[in-house]
Amino acid sequence: MTLKLGCVADDYTGASDLANTLTRAGLRTVQTIGVPSDDLALPEVDAVVVSLKSRSIEAAKAVAWSRDADAWLRGRGAEHVLFKICSTFDSTDAGNIGPVMDALRADAGDAIVLVTPAFPETGRTVYQGNLFVGSVPLNESPLKDHPLNPMHDANLVRVLARQSQTRIGLVNLATVARGAEAVRTRLAQLVSEGIGAAIVDAVFDADLTTIGAAALDHRVSVGASGIGLGLARALVGSGRVVSAHADAAAMARVGGPAACLAGSCSQATLSQVANAEKIMPVLHLDPERVVEGPDEARRALGWATDRLADGPVLIASSATPDEVQTLQARHGREVAGYAIEQAMADIAEGLVLGGVKRLVVAGGETSGAVVDRLKIPGFLVGAEIAAGVPVLRTVGTQAGDMLLALKSGNFGGPQFFADALRLMR
Ligand code: ADP
Repeated sequence: MTLKLGCVADDYTGASDLANTLTRAGLRTVQTIGVPSDDLALPEVDAVVVSLKSRSIEAAKAVAWSRDADAWLRGRGAEHVLFKICSTFDSTDAGNIGPVMDALRADAGDAIVLVTPAFPETGRTVYQGNLFVGSVPLNESPLKDHPLNPMHDANLVRVLARQSQTRIGLVNLATVARGAEAVRTRLAQLVSEGIGAAIVDAVFDADLTTIGAAALDHRVSVGASGIGLGLARALVGSGRVVSAHADAAAMARVGGPAACLAGSCSQATLSQVANAEKIMPVLHLDPERVVEGPDEARRALGWATDRLADGPVLIASSATPDEVQTLQARHGREVAGYAIEQAMADIAEGLVLGGVKRLVVAGGETSGAVVDRLKIPGFLVGAEIAAGVPVLRTVGTQAGDMLLALKSGNFGGPQFFADALRLMR
């Protein structure tokens, strides 16, 4: 199998978003958790997104991990590698976008790298090199107060120049609007001036198509899911990828018992749990007892084991804001959150050992804890249950394929659990 596109993502949720975007655009896509082992058995896919947690770590480490991921992808035939960053360009003057870009560019021998975090459909646009979040420049958006990477400058040409060894140029919107040839001509001019990377403006969805076509001439690009979409369109448009039901392979039936876990306390999840009560047995964990020790998770597992043969069950720690506050006041936010996440991971592990093959998890951190505990190497992306929440099929697990749905708290409609189980056969 030869990959048509490789991606290195600097965080897990960004990687999932990109993998889902690529699948929707017609690429059969696997997301891996960390750099895969050399012997990972991959299904037939067009793209692999390697998820790292490298956004806010020391730059040298981010560079080393990204180069490992890049080497793995190139080893599987990827000619183009996208370094996936946040669409708000989260970084500091020390990196990590610039240092990783410089290293991947040097390894690939590219003269110039196209860089754009633009994704117009989600309100991220770039004009004259300035990043807008909705209607305001980046430095006036909530990102100005980000705890790890506060963004005080909207001009990405300047921001990237502070992080990179190379000089940074601009391909402006007027050039992009004239099409891929005009972008190529501008890039050649920048290269002749000794410039090694260019921020590319994009304000409209169609700009991504132009940028994707131009980016595919190169070996490396840097950006968010928007440029990923552009690259996917270029691969499909040029016939290098035949786009037919990219999500189909993930949806093949696995059968077996199904269970749901809810650790999110968001408004959406609370009403989804209430609706699930009408169609399946629901156990509400006692959060106080969860913090006290492992007995509550054991009790939940026993409760589920007694019922799984009769159909899906749901175990929820979800509570109202008042209840969450009371627990946090007594034990501290971190202690309470961690204890409940680990209890959910314990329960997931027990359920899978007991034969569960289909697992729906509500809550971003909760999902992370579950995936880590189950040691899942990666996922093939399937059809969407709700916007941004695809069915995932595990790859490379010893116990055989499982289907998962991993949902951030606020995602999904009121009948989310039923919707998920309907698609996860
Ligand atoms: P979301 O996607 O809605 O943010 P997360 O799973 O990311 O959901 O975060 C929810 C956090 O709340 C987790 O750390 C979880 O362990 C914690 N939590 C879950 N139930 C309770 C509860 N009853 N009281 C306090 N914290 C809880």
